Amino acid sequence: QSTLKENGNKKKNVVILGSGWGAISYLHSLDTTQYNVTIVSPRNYFLFTPLLPSVPTSTVGSQSICDPVRAIARQTPGEVTYLEAAATDVDPVNNTVHVVHKNMSFTLGEAFVNNDEPIETTLNYDYLIYAVGAKVNTFGIPGIPEYASYLKEAHDATAVRQKLFNAIEASRLLPKDSDERKRLLTFVVCGGGPTGVELAAEVKDYIDQDLHKFIPDIEKEMKVVLVEALPNVLNMFPQKLIEYTKEVFNNQGVELRTNTMVKKVDPKNVYASVKRADGTSEDVVIPYGTLVWAGGNAQRQLTRSLADKITEQKTARRGLLVDENLKLDGASNIYALGDCTFTTNAPTAQVAHQQGEYLADYFNKLAKLDDLEYLSSLEVNPESVQKLARRIERQKASLKPFVYKHQGAMAYVGSERAIADLSWGSWSTLALGGSLTFFFWRTAYVSMILGVRSKILVVSDWIKVALFGRDCSKD
Ligand code: FAD
Ligand code: NAD
Repeated sequence: QSTLKENGNKKKNVVILGSGWGAISYLHSLDTTQYNVTIVSPRNYFLFTPLLPSVPTSTVGSQSICDPVRAIARQTPGEVTYLEAAATDVDPVNNTVHVVHKNMSFTLGEAFVNNDEPIETTLNYDYLIYAVGAKVNTFGIPGIPEYASYLKEAHDATAVRQKLFNAIEASRLLPKDSDERKRLLTFVVCGGGPTGVELAAEVKDYIDQDLHKFIPDIEKEMKVVLVEALPNVLNMFPQKLIEYTKEVFNNQGVELRTNTMVKKVDPKNVYASVKRADGTSEDVVIPYGTLVWAGGNAQRQLTRSLADKITEQKTARRGLLVDENLKLDGASNIYALGDCTFTTNAPTAQVAHQQGEYLADYFNKLAKLDDLEYLSSLEVNPESVQKLARRIERQKASLKPFVYKHQGAMAYVGSERAIADLSWGSWSTLALGGSLTFFFWRTAYVSMILGVRSKILVVSDWIKVALFGRDCSKD
């Protein structure tokens, strides 16, 4: 990368951490000719998470919702370096990030190549764009890390599919009324947020619409159970849409167990406490063949250790604290966005995407401001210096705060039905549920997909499913 701009000003080093909604939306809109840009992420692709719940059932292929970082970087006007690594330490005093590449074990023909020594380096930054997202919150519940799958990454979706198929195939060896067969044929999702609801809906569709063609009557034997600690699922949606979701689940035969708090998990059972209407509680055991934990977000270790290094972040328990320009409180050159931050906005793709676009625009303006200040430092003519000073003030005034524009929320609830809670600013909202909303949901999601390639692949996956059904082979 060239270190100087055309006007002779030095390019600043921008290091971006992450390749998710925040980081990629930022990169996509950044004028990369103005900075030396390095993007670091252990995941060498962007994942379109809104369609991830469709992946375990092959309604959408996992490759269809993954866009390689390098392909995205190539679409920007300048040069971008991508490093496949995870940041392990940020030093906000010396402006450095330590990064480690860990994936050195692979199979080469017959041989298994294993390089145990991590390969690592330290990067200097002038600006750090911190967008590492969040991890799954297990609330320290015993057994979840060992026995449950998550639905956060593409490989999680593949693991869920494999576990589901293994359980189904194993159950075929057992007598019809055996408890073990019933257990294996029970798919349990814990957490009734949108992730849990959409996954339960997709799995039930799959069983009813496709699996039953290959294994007759399987829909009568298989059970999909959704466990939620609160009285309702989808608590961020209006009551009317919550009721609609319950009705669809009821008709579909998804077993909804609300007021049920998971306490412990072992290889075969979920142990929970059910809160009754009279205030008493009862312990229950829910046997499972496949278990998915969708309990929400928690801060990553890297984020916690960064917060611990900055006095102004000492109270940042649920995410990093940022100002109106997304600059980290207590740091002059670190900007944070997306699920790793704690703001008044929910941790959604919609928020991270708008923040990324905003921050790129902010940085494009910052680059111009930096150029004006550089030119001013070279100028000797007092009149020109004054002119430049006025332009600098105007440029500074153009750096506006981030304002989130909520466009609403949508979720798939099964049987080709979706719910949508749409809003136009603060003055109008519309709550919709049904088959038409499902088509709207699909159209809206295709328009949200960042790359043309992925848009085409997702639409062709849907056409394939409509023509031939979902893929029922076990990979
Ligand atoms: P992420 O998109 O999670 O990206 C984080 C990135 O950081 C990843 O690339 C990761 O590999 C990388 N990273 C992690 N650790 C490190 C490290 N140490 N160093 C460098 N990089 C690191 N939101 C909606 O608005 N609508 C939806 O329909 C919707 N559906 C969803 C469905 C599912 C199944 C899930 C799990 C989430 C969904 N969300 C949805 C939420 C949305 O995906 C998140 O809010 C969004 O991804 C947050 O973006 P982010 O950039 O902060 O984090
Ligand atoms: P979430 O935080 O929205 O929901 C987690 C659920 O798990 C909560 O309802 C919580 O009460 C429940 N839970 C926690 N501990 C429990 C326990 N011990 N026993 C039983 N239930 C327990 O998490 P999510 O669904 O993964 O969503 C994360 C973020 O991503 C949210 O901001 C969400 O809006 C967003 N998202 C949006 C969509 C969409 O818009 N369609 C889809 C997926 C995720």
